[in-house]
Amino acid sequence: MNKNEFTTLTMYFSRQTRYSHPEGDFDNDGIWFASEIEQCECCENLRVATAKYPYSSQIHYRSFKHVCNLNDIDPGSIKKEARRLNIIIKNVTINDNIKFEICRYLNELSDDYSIIDYNFDQIESKIDSFIFENLL
Ligand SMILES: [Zn+2]
Repeated sequence: MNKNEFTTLTMYFSRQTRYSHPEGDFDNDGIWFASEIEQCECCENLRVATAKYPYSSQIHYRSFKHVCNLNDIDPGSIKKEARRLNIIIKNVTINDNIKFEICRYLNELSDDYSIIDYNFDQIESKIDSFIFENLL
């Protein structure tokens, strides 16, 4: 996988675990709206959030499909890796703190310019050792 694909995976897991959030703001009624920068083809027919469901559109902006579109990645190209990462995270996540620590580490990895080849097997073993050394 390349750097953009790994960054996309990282963004997806960070948004899913609420470690990071889609760009947006609240209006005067407390309804959340996504920023212009978040807009992609997949967002066109989204139901507009209402006072009753002020966060309804956030679910979309945290979705795999949206995060892939936002980064110009074909969802099919990283689906398998997303599934593998999900299994690793599910196996160790007892609480949100641990999820956050894993997301922090993923973000650190995706910012690491010394990783030239984003070989997913290597990434996976880095994550495994991180979990083993720090979180178990
Ligand atoms: Zn979208």
